[in-house]
Amino acid sequence: MLFSLVIPVYNEEKMIGELFSRTMAALERLPIEFEIICVDDGSKDATYPLLAEAHQKDERFKVLSLSRNFGHQAAILAGLNHAKGDYIGIMDGDLQDPPELFLDFYNKMQEGYDVVYAVRKKRKEAFYKKWAYAIYYRLLGRMSGEKIPLDSGDFSMFSRRVLDVMLAMPEQSLFLRGIRSWVGFRQTGFEYERDGRAAGETKYSLGKLLRLAMDGIFSFSRFPVKFIGYLGIVAVVFSMIYSFIALGKRFLWGEVIEGYTSLVLIIFFFGGIQLISLRILGEYVNRIYDESRGRPLFIVKDKLL
Ligand code: UDP
Ligand code: MG
Repeated sequence: MLFSLVIPVYNEEKMIGELFSRTMAALERLPIEFEIICVDDGSKDATYPLLAEAHQKDERFKVLSLSRNFGHQAAILAGLNHAKGDYIGIMDGDLQDPPELFLDFYNKMQEGYDVVYAVRKKRKEAFYKKWAYAIYYRLLGRMSGEKIPLDSGDFSMFSRRVLDVMLAMPEQSLFLRGIRSWVGFRQTGFEYERDGRAAGETKYSLGKLLRLAMDGIFSFSRFPVKFIGYLGIVAVVFSMIYSFIALGKRFLWGEVIEGYTSLVLIIFFFGGIQLISLRILGEYVNRIYDESRGRPLFIVKDKLL
């Protein structure tokens, strides 16, 4: 039996030493063999040489290096593609996800689960970030019919058969935590407190974070298209009410409603609604375009396996 742990890292030179020693020590306590697949997502600092050094120290610490920065989710996918284990794990490279928990996950899986995902009870992060996450996950839960568990990220352990199903999916927009929940099987959450970063700053720029948020919504919900329809219905209802009022006034009382200002406002308002609707449709068109091009989601440059 083998456990494969995938860790994506991007410009984490300050982290590698501690990441290596703490994760190795934590996985030594598992009753099965393990391998670590650390994916260097196109780092520009000393991350790769440090990873190579770690590989020298222990062969079980394997390294993949991508040809450029493809993003957190793509880096994880690259690692998953190389995982040989019967059990698979994912964790961030900044030690915000304590590797010691994999023993608990493993024990939980022996109860017959295929997926054990971590649920963040507390986050040690800026309050606006905490709020944004909380609101986002609840919105996503509302919008998507799939029950994507609240407040759970990629930190998890799952079985080989779950991995095989996940890898067989040809999707371009990667929202792994959604796919992991979508595949079904017996899943359970495991509560933990999410630590702050051990060193360095976040590698998730606001742009990347928004991209991930959009991927979650557009891949797991049809709400955006329906929303256009709702806007339309509201507009029609309002215009009907207003026509009755206007026509009534005109024919029953002979009053003509004056209306340059209201006319201009209405034109702007509906112009805005139409542009927003086009943007939403455009997002789907873009996604169809991405899917049809079918470009690889990552390119592996070097392997130390
Ligand atoms: N990461 C990555 N590629 C990226 C951005 C981040 O591989 O383009 C890695 C990063 O090194 C870390 C993990 O993904 O190991 C999570 O990123 P981070 O901790 O910066 O995100 P946050 O926890 O702040 O949301
Ligand atoms: Mg982090």
